[in-house]
Amino acid sequence: MKTPIPFYLDKILNSVRDEDGGEVADYIPQLAEANPDQLGVALCSVTGHLYSAGDAENRFTIQSISKPFIYALALQELGLNEVCEVVGLEPSGQAFNELSLANDHRPVNPMINAGAIVVNQLINGVDSSVEDRVERIRSYVSKLAGREVDVDKRLCDSELENAERNLSIAHMLRSYGIIQDDAHDAVLSYVSQCALSIDVRDLAVMSATLANGGRQPVTGEKILDADVCRLTLAVMSSCGMYDGAGRWMAEVGIPAKSGVAGGLIGTLPGQLGVATLSPRLDEQGNSVRGTAIFQELSSDMGLHLMSTDNRFGVHPVRSVDEDDETAIIRLQGHINFTATEAILHELEERQFSEKRLALDFSQVSGLHQVGRRMLKEGLRRLKEEGNEVALVDDNGLVTDRAMSDGTVLPLADKEDYVIAGEEV
Ligand code: GLN
Repeated sequence: MKTPIPFYLDKILNSVRDEDGGEVADYIPQLAEANPDQLGVALCSVTGHLYSAGDAENRFTIQSISKPFIYALALQELGLNEVCEVVGLEPSGQAFNELSLANDHRPVNPMINAGAIVVNQLINGVDSSVEDRVERIRSYVSKLAGREVDVDKRLCDSELENAERNLSIAHMLRSYGIIQDDAHDAVLSYVSQCALSIDVRDLAVMSATLANGGRQPVTGEKILDADVCRLTLAVMSSCGMYDGAGRWMAEVGIPAKSGVAGGLIGTLPGQLGVATLSPRLDEQGNSVRGTAIFQELSSDMGLHLMSTDNRFGVHPVRSVDEDDETAIIRLQGHINFTATEAILHELEERQFSEKRLALDFSQVSGLHQVGRRMLKEGLRRLKEEGNEVALVDDNGLVTDRAMSDGTVLPLADKEDYVIAGEEV
């Protein structure tokens, strides 16, 4: 069997191929020369399966899609408090290159240029040379992509030829003491970050790394903390599409970031990363056909983050078997808070008393710490009510079995809880 996913992606590309609205960015002279008809898409799951269709190996510059990743690097190096001293977390509702600062002179968020220039300056320490800072960024992006990526020097020089807007932002930031480097160096460092050359397959894997809590799903390397990824995705969801962010979240509902070279990424936390390439942009600087692909993917594949279909995939209580003395409650799937609530509700409804009772984790694929904590508390209460409680946990998911009454939850063998006449 050949998986139909690449064919499905191809079909989606064909459905938007004839759309020729929008214009290729030309304020960076070199970008104006890009072939406007390029069209590619790639998708990477958190399990590291990568699929693509169309012009998936065409290289282009990452541009603003670098912003969430470099923000994540700053959070990883310095922590949220320190990063928040120089850049805020609020959507700006303004264009990406707006000369915009909040009343306290910090840029309002890290996704607009003003914020991204500040974040770039945080990398590798304030005293870093431009060269070392860019190298730190290049090698980090290489780890995210799973291959060595390079700065496209021609594109970088081309952007520097026409960088008045970014230079004026940098001068403004320096005049308020938000950055220390002189304006030219700050813009050179930021524009080099934007000129990293990648393709949609690289971007899909990078995006899936954020979705996967910071572990690159193909190489298996742990690059970022899960908390850092969560923060970055939150900022992407409210600010990633600039002044089009509200409409994007309503229509597509996937945290996303666009770039003026025509790239677009979307990250579905815990699930997957998607990337598209199509250089013609709308007025907000977002790819027209990229947006159409995401709209289609979101509605057709049910990927909207706010969809009320996003319940637990399977019911967390697989089965409950009991006789007069014994009860076994078999759990399954990923036990997050919502699943924990359903399990505790079931335990409450059953009103167990004087039973030998075990929770069986054999079919559980993941256990959030809230699940561990609250299920232990549920078992402690069942014990207090006269039941004898135990865990079947051959995979060691319940890492800490100490209960709040000072006792330790005993482990048991599945075989000791077989109910007469039942099939296990
Ligand atoms: N390098 C570009 C700039 O600063 C990035 C902008 C973008 O991709 N939206 O103008």
